[in-house]
Formats: sequence, structure tokens, C-alpha cells
Amino acid sequence: WSSRSFPWTKSLEDHNKKVFGNHSFRPNQREIINATMSRYDVFVLMPTGGGKSLTYQLPALICPGVTLVISPLVSLIQDQIMHLLQANIPATYLSANMDWSEQQEIFRELNSDYCKFKLLYVTPEKVAKSDVLLRHLESLHARELLARIVIDEAHCVSQWGHDFRPDYQGLGILKQKFPSTPVLALTATATASVKEDVVRALALVNCIIFRQSFNRPNLWYTVIPKTKKCVEDIDKFIKENHFDECGIIYCLSRMDCEKVAEKLQEYGHKAAFYHGSMDPAQRTYVQKQWSKDEINIICATVAFGMGINKPDVRFVIHHSLPKSIEGYHQECGRAGRDGQRSSCVLYYSYSDYIRVKHMISQGVVEQSPFSNGYNRINTANSGRVLETNTDNLLRMVSYCENDVDCRRLLQLFHFGEKFDSNNCGKTCDNCLKIKSFVDKDVTEIAKQLVELVKSTGQQFSSAHILEVYRGSLNQFVKKHRHEKLNLHGAGKHLAKGEASRVLRHLVTEDLLVEDVRKSDLYGSLSSILKVNESKAYNLCFGRLSVILRFPSVA
Ligand code: ADP
Ligand code: ZN
Repeated sequence: WSSRSFPWTKSLEDHNKKVFGNHSFRPNQREIINATMSRYDVFVLMPTGGGKSLTYQLPALICPGVTLVISPLVSLIQDQIMHLLQANIPATYLSANMDWSEQQEIFRELNSDYCKFKLLYVTPEKVAKSDVLLRHLESLHARELLARIVIDEAHCVSQWGHDFRPDYQGLGILKQKFPSTPVLALTATATASVKEDVVRALALVNCIIFRQSFNRPNLWYTVIPKTKKCVEDIDKFIKENHFDECGIIYCLSRMDCEKVAEKLQEYGHKAAFYHGSMDPAQRTYVQKQWSKDEINIICATVAFGMGINKPDVRFVIHHSLPKSIEGYHQECGRAGRDGQRSSCVLYYSYSDYIRVKHMISQGVVEQSPFSNGYNRINTANSGRVLETNTDNLLRMVSYCENDVDCRRLLQLFHFGEKFDSNNCGKTCDNCLKIKSFVDKDVTEIAKQLVELVKSTGQQFSSAHILEVYRGSLNQFVKKHRHEKLNLHGAGKHLAKGEASRVLRHLVTEDLLVEDVRKSDLYGSLSSILKVNESKAYNLCFGRLSVILRFPSVA
């Protein structure tokens, strides 16, 4: 897709320079634009700040007709439209809290054969609830004036993601109604399972996927045991490493935000708090002061995040356990946009895990701004959502408790990306700490794990396989009589985390495959381990050995 000989290539180059003021394209932008303009469905995974907007705004400008953009937040939409209008690109939006007469005017324009708008932004609620909108889209489509459908923050479609929004699930209707209109789905965060889920829910056809590495080389990752003196520790960390620099401290509850901010003020920092129950004017005020460097440190819930384009955030500290690796990665991603070295420090205690778990089950965890604020989850799916959230949280716990593997490798593995920890360059606590390695032959463990996946019928998750291997007698194990298996408890003697490292290695090396599908056993979309027979054959018949690195004791 990188070819420069598409009919629109010259026009692309010209408009990119003249209208958007860019000298060149960023990685993947040209390829994405060529694919969507060739009328394919396209799915884009690109980290925040990568330049996703251009990949639909530029095609919108040079294609005839109107591009429909679905975006989760009105404030975000207004911001985009302001920028578009400044560049003289006619764009507008429809939202539920707009005057009826204002909406009428926009609909009238859409009906005209010379509709001036190139982009129409709507919230997903609008698509779900407005028949009038659908009728107008049908009319545009019938007149061949519906150029493209863009779904921004597409991970909100998935219950597996950390930002699930029920209204996004209804967007599958768009492909049903307009099968010939190309869809472009964009997100800055998605694991393999979320990606599958999104492609399925949006009913994308022969979809072309662009994915950029999610590694952020200039971010330094550390996990530190959390003590009672956590805020003192934070104070010291900032004074020693980031004196008078700008950062975010993510806290779990609103109360925590206020307490941490107050203490840091006592220690002499220019700190403030930010959370969902402040009134909008207050929030805007704090955000502005922060942007202008009048406040250095914001103590915030995850409600603080969207639309933060401050390039020089030098540290992101997690005062409590984040709710998922995806969320963690995205929150850390707000540091170091300018490419300069920045710190990501996570204070971890097991008691926080219990606390977060309880809050999740009570539905009182503050959500990121995509997820409609502070709602209790009361959909019919709440059981499933709860299960997913707990699973996400457990993965976060195992990330924190891992004191061997490269943090980058662990995060990127979660996004289905392979990472060679030699490339970390000792920029995470685990790589820094471990001075030397010994190679250990773990072929026997690998064989046993593969055998276990086979003997349980290739229908269970990796978490369950590990439970059985370690000899767990939990209810689910007993329900399936897995305590009767020969290999039940075969991995009991292994050091903590060793079996899961081997299992992760087997997935990375393609001996085992994670298959995301709807499973009767789990009653929902699940990630099931399967055996890649051709590769596993070599392992089982001694033609392949598995060597893993371990930190040497010396
Ligand atoms: P994303 O949506 O992926 O987070 P944006 O679309 O908001 O990223 O783009 C991030 C910033 O990069 C914006 O300020 C945008 O103007 C700029 N940008 C995008 N593409 C280019 C380019 N080809 N050249 C220079 N700047 C660009
Ligand atoms: Zn590392």
C-alpha cells in the first residue's frame, strides 16, 4: 500500500502540504489512506499521537460526498471541528443535546445535492437512537454521497477492552445498511481479542489491518512495592528525579486524589486534584493551569486523560493498581510525547488488588471519559463484564508480581506484539536489576503444558491450564474433573511464575495459539489455547528444545 502510483497520489501530497501544513506523511499514514481510498475496510492500531485523524480527514477532503465520523465524546468532536474549520474544511456535528432547529438545518444541508459538509461527526448514541439520522444517511448513500464511515476509538465496541460502551455495539447496523461503503476503524489500544471482537461487531469484510508497534522507547518502567509511606516515597522520587517537572499521579478514588494532592502541597509541590465529581468549570480550570505549567502535578482518576496533548509530561505515577494492562499502557502513554526520557512508576500492593476488585464488583470504579463517567454497570451483560474486568485486573497483578521479565516484553505481549528484551536497553526495573542470565532447558515443562492443553480438549484458557498444572483445586477445576488428570499438580514444585513464563513463550513461538471465540464453557467470548500441531510435533518428538533465560543467582 505504500506505492505512490495511485490516481489520487498527487492530490494527496498537495492537500497534505497546503491544507494540513505537513511536509510529509508519518509511518503508515500513506498506506492507510491508499487502502481506505481503494474502498477496503481498514482497521488501524496506532499509538496516541501517531496521526490517526489525518488518515480520514485527508480522504474526506478529496473524495466526493460526506464522511461520517463516529466519535465518543462531544468535547473531543468540538475540538476536532474547530481545527478543521481553521483549515477551511467544512465539517459539522450532530449531538443529542443540540437544538432541534440547529439539527434541522444540518439535515437540510445533508439533503442537498451540493451538500457543503465534507465531514459529519456524531456520537454513537446518536446512531443508536436517531431514526432521522439513519434516514438521512440512507438518502446520502442512495445518491452515492456517503463517502466513508469512520469509527474512532473503535476499541469501545469490545467488552474485552477497558472502555466498553454499549452504544458502540449497535454500530454493526452501519455495515448492514451500507455494505458497499468503506469503514475505517481506528484505535490506540487493542489486544488481539479486542481486535477480533471489534472486527466481528462492526461486521468488517476482508478487513486490512495496520498495526504499529506499541513500544515507547523513551518511557522507563518501574514497579515499586507500596508502603504506608507511599506519598512520602512519591515526594522523594519526584524531588530526586523530576524536580519542578510536570507529571500525573493516577489514584483510585476521588478521595485518594484529594488526599495525595494535599500532602504533596504540604511537601512543597505545585499539585492539584482532578476527578469526575468536580464541576466542569473547576475541571477545565485545573486542566488549563496544568497546561500553562502553573500546576506541576495533577492527582487524578482515569477520568483525566482524554485530550491531554501536553508534550512534556515527564512522569506518570500510579498510586494504586491500574485496572488492566491496556489501561495502564494508555495512561503511561501520556508521558513523553515529545520523545524525551520520562518515568512510569507503579506502586503496587496486594491489598490494593483486593480493594480494586471490590470496587469493580460494586461498580463504583471511576471510568475513563469514554465510558460514560461513573455509571454502575447495569446491563444484562453485567456478569460477563464483571468477569472480564476481574480477568483484566488479574493480568495486571501478575505483571506487577513478575520480577524477572522485561516490562516492555510483558506489556507488548499483551498486545500480541513480540519484543526481544535485549532491545530494552535496561530501561525497565527488571532488566536493570538482573545483571546476568543463565539459560535453562525447560523442554519438559513445555511438553507437559502442551500435553495438558491437548488432554483437556483444547477448550480452556491459559489461566485455567496454569491452575491445573499448579495443582489448584478450585471449583472450576473440580467441575471439569481436572484434578483427576495425570498432569494435575505436575508443576507444583516450580518457582513462582515459571510455568506462566514457559506458557507465554510457547504462545510467542507459535507452538500454542490463542484462539478468540465464543465458548460454551465460558459462556462468552474467550481466549482459548490450542495446539499448533505441526510445531508441537517437533517438541513432543525431541526435535525441538525450549530454552529460557533466568536471572542467575550469583
Ligand atoms: P492520534 O489521533 O493518533 O492521537 P492526531 O491525529 O491527533 O493523533 O495527531 C497528533 C498530532 O500529529 C497532531 O498535532 C497532528 O497535527 C500531527 N500530525 C499528524 N500527521 C502529521 C504529519 N504527517 N506531519 C506532521 N504532523 C502530523
Ligand atoms: Zn526491560
